[in-house]
Formats: sequence, structure tokens, C-alpha cells
Amino acid sequence: MIYSPELFEEAQAIIDARRLDAESARAMRDRAFDAEEPEYRRWKQQRAAAAQNIVKALGMKTKEEAKAYLEKLRDENLTAQDEIRKLLAKHDLPADYLEVHYTCPKCGDTGSVETSVCDCKIGVLRELAFREAAKKSPLRFCAFEDFDLKYYSDDYNDKYGCSPRERMRQILTVCEQYARDFDPRSENLFMVGATGLGKTHLSLAIAGEVIKKGYNVLYNSAQNLFTELQKEYFGKPEGRGQYESLVLECDLLVIDDLGVEFSTQFTRAALYNIINTRLNTRRPTIISSNLQLDEIQQAYSPRISSRLIGDFLQLRFIGADVRQQKLGG
Ligand SMILES: [Zn+2]
Repeated sequence: MIYSPELFEEAQAIIDARRLDAESARAMRDRAFDAEEPEYRRWKQQRAAAAQNIVKALGMKTKEEAKAYLEKLRDENLTAQDEIRKLLAKHDLPADYLEVHYTCPKCGDTGSVETSVCDCKIGVLRELAFREAAKKSPLRFCAFEDFDLKYYSDDYNDKYGCSPRERMRQILTVCEQYARDFDPRSENLFMVGATGLGKTHLSLAIAGEVIKKGYNVLYNSAQNLFTELQKEYFGKPEGRGQYESLVLECDLLVIDDLGVEFSTQFTRAALYNIINTRLNTRRPTIISSNLQLDEIQQAYSPRISSRLIGDFLQLRFIGADVRQQKLGG
């Protein structure tokens, strides 16, 4: 994943704030315990003196003398630690009560371990990058409960071997289960059908549920997605590829309304790269489109339509435009 320098700075500021919080919380616990337990100060001072006096060993005449002195300091330090632990136990406090409780004990909330970036900082960077990406396409909230089957005819349709309502009930169930059981190995969905049959509603409902489970979801219309990718591709070099990395690496990618945008060499290459990379890394994608597969093959390429046939569960939406029905009362 590639991040812009601004994002690195922002992540470091968050981690620095965590460290300062952890340290001040420790200082507050120390003061509170000091006020509550009169014996504590004595042992704390002994422990501090033992640490400070180590340097004195350097000025000693013989090695033996220094060694004996250091052993005495070590014993004093251990005794002090032991006594403090006993005092904590007396007050029913955990043994690490007076230590700093870092969010990330691995790096002590510094963001780096030796010379490399700590995993916690990578996590913060990811989180920030997703938040930034989500701002580009704010999610409208849609619930499964608001998906109304009454707008789909109950009349048996010979062509489909069921009524539109029956088909849409099945699709609704598939989508609810998908959202409920989502994990980063879930399958890919291809929602296909005419405008106004609820594809956007159901894909938004899935996205909303999956976000609630704590996964990173990127939702965008095909048109906006390609515009963002293009801006980034031809834009400033710093942070180039950041949005693209999120598109490729998010836990769930939802591309809404594929086929509305103007198909160019750039969009064809970008779409193929997205689908193919996510298939290879086994990350689920949901694509919705008004175009049938043969039309996608024409607008994009046979490579893309064959991926959609072979690697996506097809959900074929049928019925009459719900938005038109609602407008007509
Ligand atoms: Zn860390």
C-alpha cells in the first residue's frame, strides 16, 4: 500500500497522542496510589536511587568493589519492586498498575520498531486512507428492511420460470445472508438488471452491514471510481497509487452502475486490473450493472465478461422500475 506524506504525518500525530495519553494516565495512577498508600513513596525512592547510583560503580578502585556495589544496588532495586508489588496486591491492584499501558506494547506507541514502521502505524495509515477514500463517495444508508417486495409483480413469468417477486425474494435472501456471513473470503456478486430494480439499494445495504462488522468497504459508482483513478494516475507523484491500492486491497469493493460511464482504454484496463487483481488475491467484489453480459463484452472486453461469468455469483434482477412506480404513486 502506498500512502501520501500528509497521511504519514497524520498517522504519526495520532500515535504520538496515544503515547502521551498513556504516559499521563500512568502519572495520574502513580499520584493516586502515592496519596492512598504512604509506604509507596519510600520504595519508589529506593528504586530510583538504585538506578541513579549505578554510575558510581564506574569510579570505584577495583573491579570486585564495583561488582559488589552493583549487586547491592540490584538487590535494593529488586526488594523495592517486590515491596511495591505487595502494596499493589494489598490494594487489589494489578501488578502492572504503575507501568505505562501503551496501545501498542511492541513499539511503546512510537510507531517504529528499530528502523522499521510498526504494524500499529500501518493500521492507522490504512484507517486514515479509508476514511479519506470514503469521503469521495459518501455512503447513503439503505436497510434490507426497507426493501419492499410489493413493488415486484406476483405474476408468473414464463421466461424466468417464476414471478419477479419470487425472484427478488430469493435475491434479497442471498444479499442478507451475504452481509450477515461476510468474511474477507466471501464470493463475488454480479447484480444485473434494468434501472430501478433495487441493485443500488441492496448493494448499499450489504456495504452498510459489512462496515458495521468492522471491515473496510469501498463503495463507488463506476463513473466516480474511474474518475478518481484517472485523477490520481495523471496527478501529483506524491501519494500516487494510494486510492488505487485501497480499491485493490479493501475487504469489500462495491462498484455500482458499471456501464454508465464512458468506456475508454483507461477504464477498460483499470477495470480488468481491479477484477483480476482482486480475484488473484481472493478479495470479494460486488459489481452492479444495467448491461447484460454480452453488452459488457462489447463495451469492455471478453476477458472482463468471462471473469464475471466464471467468478461471480449472478443475481438477475427482474420486474418493473420501482422508482417509476413510486413516482406514479
Ligand atoms: Zn506499534
